[in-house]
This record gives sequence, structure tokens and C-alpha cells, in this order.
Amino acid sequence: MNSLDAFATEGLARLDALALRRRLTPTERTGGVEVMRGNRRLISFSCNDYLGLAHHPQVKAAAMAAVERYGAGAAASRLVTGDYPLLGQLEARLAAHKKKPAALVFGSGYLANIAIPPALVGAGDLILLDELSHACMLAGAKLSGARTLRFAHNDLNELKTILTLERPLAGRCLIMTESVFSMDGDRAPLPAIGALAKKHDAWLLVDDAHGLGVIEPGPADEGSAAAPLQMGTFSKSLGSYGGYLAASTPVIELLKSRARSFVYTTGLPPASAGGALAALDILEAEPERRARPLSLARRFTQALGLPLAQSAIVPLIVGEAATALRLSASLEAEGFLVVAIRPPTVPAGQARLRFAFSAAHREEDVDRLAEAVIRQCAPAL
Ligand SMILES: *Cc1c(COP(=O)(O)O)cnc(C)c1O
Repeated sequence: MNSLDAFATEGLARLDALALRRRLTPTERTGGVEVMRGNRRLISFSCNDYLGLAHHPQVKAAAMAAVERYGAGAAASRLVTGDYPLLGQLEARLAAHKKKPAALVFGSGYLANIAIPPALVGAGDLILLDELSHACMLAGAKLSGARTLRFAHNDLNELKTILTLERPLAGRCLIMTESVFSMDGDRAPLPAIGALAKKHDAWLLVDDAHGLGVIEPGPADEGSAAAPLQMGTFSKSLGSYGGYLAASTPVIELLKSRARSFVYTTGLPPASAGGALAALDILEAEPERRARPLSLARRFTQALGLPLAQSAIVPLIVGEAATALRLSASLEAEGFLVVAIRPPTVPAGQARLRFAFSAAHREEDVDRLAEAVIRQCAPAL
């Protein structure tokens, strides 16, 4: 065997031994929360389509109309000829939704997060990142070349201490966290982090991937709405694909020249922009739809005696990766798709089942799931 294939084969054997090998499973989402895997119909609690919009007739029609009018692809970077009109419309809508002067659409949330930090900070600067932040935030921090320190999850005291000791030594300072944590479902104390950021002249970047449309900042939530850099994705509650940053006009203008994954990549495909625009219409017009994922998640945590859900995401931490895989398989045998989340997505020893609730679930789906979880996962509860 050549050295390349030997390297890959050894790597796979190591992953297999640790129950950490990842595999693709063809899955057909047939609309709503039902999926087909093989010949089996399952109810999925592993989709991030929190508002059930990916298959919404209006969203699909808008995506198809965008293809008819603007084509299947943008054909160039937006700075060249890829800036078809839907993108500007989408940016105006996002800016208004986020109460910011401007917004910029990226190819995905991942692409946004690897571009924003390097455009704003670099050598001699400091990044403070919540330790549970998404992998793409860490990747963006590393790409920037700024000194990056991770603070304990949601730990305001540690953040304050680091700011006091380290902030004076750095030029610019960027704090990065999530509104709703993707694998834990808890929320960051954004008003308090925002106040600390202001006090220490640090810029706060909030990743709202799992908050948009599900956990909208209320009038009392000045801190989170006040974060000067708000990014997110169309791939979750908007049921589409693409990423964005909402910020001030000078910041957005600077990023148009400096954000490498904006400058050097092709514009978002028209179908994604058209779908996201229609989804935003529905999101804003239907408050009952926005309230449903959290209320269903709370129905589930109440049934199991778990801490009250703070978002549409509920983790059940079971420890070992192999245990998470086994429990996921037993829930699948009962008709529920609940994917096991393993390291390195979560810390070692914290493998889990991650339940994601959608406006498209019925109450009885949630109740039957809770019964199955009690039957299958009793020792983890
Ligand atoms: C999903 C996710 C992203 C990436 O968004 P994509 O548009 O899917 O690339 C970024 N941050 C967080 C917290 C996420 O959960």
C-alpha cells in the first residue's frame, strides 16, 4: 500500500477503535419532520429546520422563481458580476430584522465566521472565545493571527479577569460567543457580556445561528441586540442556505473589501437567496410558528424532569461515544431519528443525544419521543 493510503487506513482504524468514525447515511426529508432512511420512515429530532420552512410551499416556490429568473448559479463573485438583485434585497431585510444599518450575505455561516475575525483583528490583537463556540468560530480566530484565549463556557468572572489582565496588552479585542449554543441549547448572558465588552473597548461578535426566529431578543434584551457584530445562517430556521453579518455601515463596507471568503468566492446561488427571503417573510408574519419550537422543547424537558429547555435544542449527555451511538440506534428502532453527537464536536466524555424541536412536530410526536427516551435511556436521565 502506498504511504497516502496507509495513512488514511490507519486513521480510520483509530477512529473505529474510539467509536469516532463518521459515516454518511442517505436520508430523504419528505417534508415536515418525517425522513426516510432506507425503507424506514422516521420522525426526525435531528434537523435544524426549526420553523419547518425548508419544505414550505411559499419558500419552495420563491426558490424556484429565483432560479427561473436569475439562473442556477451566480456565475461569479458578487464583486464581479454575481451581485444579482435578490442579494441586496435580502441584506436590507436582514439589516431591518436585526435592527442594524447594514448586512452582508456570505456563502454560508461557516464562510462568514472564517472571514469576519481576520478582517477585523490580527497580530498584536486579542480574541476571547467562549470554549463551546462552534468550530468555524475557532477556525476564524486562528486564521486571524490574533492571540486567541478561550474562556470557560458562559463564565463572566473569567471573561472579566482576562479582559482586565490581557486587554491592556492588545491593540484591538474581539469577543466571540453564541446566542444559543448549538450542542447544549443554553444561552449566553449577552447583556452582561455586552456590558463587559463596552467597558473594555472590546467588540462583541454574536453567532445567532440557533437563535434567529426561535429566540428573538426582547425589548429588555438590550445587550444582545446591542452587540455590534451579529452573524447567523439561513441554513437553520430559514430552511435555506447561506450566511450573513449584520453590523454598522462602515463595518459592512470594510468587509466587502477585506472578508476573503466573500471576495474570493462565488455569490450565493439564487435559489438559496430567494428561499431565505420568503422564509424571512413567514418568520416575521407568524409569531405562533416562532414560539412553537421552544414550547415543544419545554414540553419534552418537563416530561423527562430535565432542566427547562432554553431553546429548541435539548442535550442528553451520556458520556461515552459508544453509548450515544447505541442509544441513538435504539431510538431509531422505535421510529425516532436522534443523531449521536460525539467528540470532537463536543468535549471528550460528553457524547450526547441532541434533540432539536421544530414547529412542524406535533405534541404527540414529542410525547411519544419522551416515552421512548424514558424506556431506552433511563440510566442517563
Ligand atoms: C450551523 C452553524 C454554523 C454554520 O452555518 P452554515 O450556514 O451551516 O455553514 C455556524 N455557527 C453555528 C453556531 C452553527 O450552529
